[in-house]
Amino acid sequence: MSLSTSAKTDPVRAAGGNPVVGGAPRHTVDQAWIDQVSRGVVSDGTVPAVELTTPLTGEVLGTVAQSSRADVEAAVRAGRMAQVRWARTRLADRSRILLRFHDLVLEHQSELLDLVQLESGKTRFHGFEEVADTVIVARHYARRLPGYLAGTSAQGGLPFLSTARAARRPKGVVGVVAPWNYPLSMSITDAIPALLAGNAVVLRPDNRAALSCLRAVQLLEEAGLPDGVLLVVLGDGPSAGQAVVELTDYVCFTGSTATGRKVAATCAERLVGCSLELGGKNPLYVAADADLDRAARGAVTACFGSAGQLCISAERIICHEAIADDFVRRFVALVRQMRLSVDLAYGADMGSLAGPQQLATVEEHVEDARAKGATVLTGGRARPDLGPYVYEPTVLTDVTEDMLSARGETFGPVVTIYRARDDRAAITMCNDTDYGLNASVWTRDVRRGKDLARRIDAGTVGVNDGYAAAWTAVGAPMGGMKQSGIGRRHGAEGLRKYTEEQNVAVQRLVPVQGPAGVDQSLWTGLLTSGLRSLRLTGWR
Ligand code: NAD
Repeated sequence: MSLSTSAKTDPVRAAGGNPVVGGAPRHTVDQAWIDQVSRGVVSDGTVPAVELTTPLTGEVLGTVAQSSRADVEAAVRAGRMAQVRWARTRLADRSRILLRFHDLVLEHQSELLDLVQLESGKTRFHGFEEVADTVIVARHYARRLPGYLAGTSAQGGLPFLSTARAARRPKGVVGVVAPWNYPLSMSITDAIPALLAGNAVVLRPDNRAALSCLRAVQLLEEAGLPDGVLLVVLGDGPSAGQAVVELTDYVCFTGSTATGRKVAATCAERLVGCSLELGGKNPLYVAADADLDRAARGAVTACFGSAGQLCISAERIICHEAIADDFVRRFVALVRQMRLSVDLAYGADMGSLAGPQQLATVEEHVEDARAKGATVLTGGRARPDLGPYVYEPTVLTDVTEDMLSARGETFGPVVTIYRARDDRAAITMCNDTDYGLNASVWTRDVRRGKDLARRIDAGTVGVNDGYAAAWTAVGAPMGGMKQSGIGRRHGAEGLRKYTEEQNVAVQRLVPVQGPAGVDQSLWTGLLTSGLRSLRLTGWR
């Protein structure tokens, strides 16, 4: 990959706005490099290649091949053939490949960070979150694989006459449909446990994540993943994405609730399983006893990580009224100091939005709120002087029910502040949403924090943390309640969902129906006595 940038690192304060890091960089990727990495895309060339641009500057990066429905069919066929042999490999061999991949990702992190930044517009530090997530997930599942896949033995209905053993088999060909906001980690981390469980994977990353994903797939191959086990198809959601949903044996989808509903309907019609990681309107509660400096710093990260284009970022801050003024003063002061940049370098707090659609939604939500009487405490404007899709971190208050941002997910750097008279009112406000993805609670009393967390209807809740603690604890499940999804990633469930559990039972000596020729009333009498004694002896 050839890449050039004119990064400066001295912070420069723009008139009346957030500090800016660096100047106007030029970012490019060689078409020859894209062609080389795109050899991993299943494409017969019938669908025209699409142009990729970087949201950092709006410059064209190059073109990338697209897949037709026939390509997706071919990918599933190839996956089905390769999967048979892959499922017979030893677990230790699969784990070794993923641990090698772990090392390669860290070795190549600088190149991966460039790609993530170029595709998503986020800062280098937020890109690093993706590198870290990818290797944490790879290590965790590689090491836990034997335990997560271990079979279980069960007693028969009558002692000694039968035994049963449950074992996990791979589903076959798993389809992963991934979004654009985390080009590396959202594309790869859901495929990792599916592969380790012995499946082939047909992976459809978003076009805006194609380069990061394809480079990671190359690294997996370099680590030893056999040909045909992980196949990449590219194309827009309603065609390539839908084809993956219609043709694979299990679907892992990440995206909006509206699209998730369509994916679930297709899977229901086909009677195949799916897990859905969807949207959120995540609350962050600052209790009366919170350490306010810590809470304000934490809220900045929770709200503006990846410019708010993170499904688990906070869009609602609920403050206990006793500390609300104090918290808001500290929080807004920190937001005003956030350093904005589109440089391919560390040092910035927030980068660009991912493209014109995201910018349009953010502007629509903020303008609608402003027009209907909301107060903009800071931010509230685009910064085309920095990059075509840069928008300032924005804090709103006085938001009412009739405003778009009250209940709809903005998925951008916009947060609204509310006040609650006590904990009970705050929990009611936290739960007053159709979503239930993530939440966080800030208090000096951790025991109380955990108690409050258990009363919030969300799949993950951080105590004194916005999202990182729950996200990086990959041994524990992560996913949505209510309209935020079905199923979980991470933990045992994040791997076992890609398996079918099969019960192989063996009958010994006599059948359950009794020996041949024995009178039925005699046999059922014996069974009745047997069942009574099992109850009396505490047999389970
Ligand atoms: P979206 O639903 O429009 O698109 C998500 C992906 O699905 C895209 O790659 C799209 O091309 C594809 N797609 C569209 N129609 C499809 C179809 N019929 N069949 C298969 N795939 C299809 O969502 P978006 O607005 O692009 O992404 C942002 C949303 O994703 C937000 O709501 C965000 O909260 C959510 N998200 C959730 C998680 C999570 O883990 N819960 C993570 C990231 C993003």
